[in-house]
Amino acid sequence: MSVDKMLRDMVADEVARAIGPLNAAVAQLQANGQVIARLAAALGQPLKRGPGRPPKALSLGAPTTGKRRGRPPGRKASGRACAVKGCGKQMRSKGYCAAHYQKFRMLERTNRLPADWVADAAPNSVKNIKLPRGRAGAKALAAARG
Ligand SMILES: [Zn+2]
Repeated sequence: MSVDKMLRDMVADEVARAIGPLNAAVAQLQANGQVIARLAAALGQPLKRGPGRPPKALSLGAPTTGKRRGRPPGRKASGRACAVKGCGKQMRSKGYCAAHYQKFRMLERTNRLPADWVADAAPNSVKNIKLPRGRAGAKALAAARG
């Protein structure tokens, strides 16, 4: 017997021993797959394989009762239009849309709120004002603040 043949036999033995359990596992997996396929055929619908979200009824963990976060449902669609004429957006707070409510707050804070800019104004009842920008704006702001 040559050294070459001996080495080859040794390597073959080693490989067979290493691959043996793997082969068994693969065979088992294939058998499982066949079982699942047969079950799916029996049930009349294909089963989804692979990682996915478990059904809600089966999910574990704390129940979802308790304090809810964020805006309560139903408040989003107020159906009322923004108080500012020609805005067309939906009311968010105090009769104004998000942008005009911010403007309202800023005007209020800087004592520049026009007479018709009231809280909870009727839709399309308030005339929008164009604020001076740049140096003129800074001047107007300083004058308003006194
Ligand atoms: Zn608006």
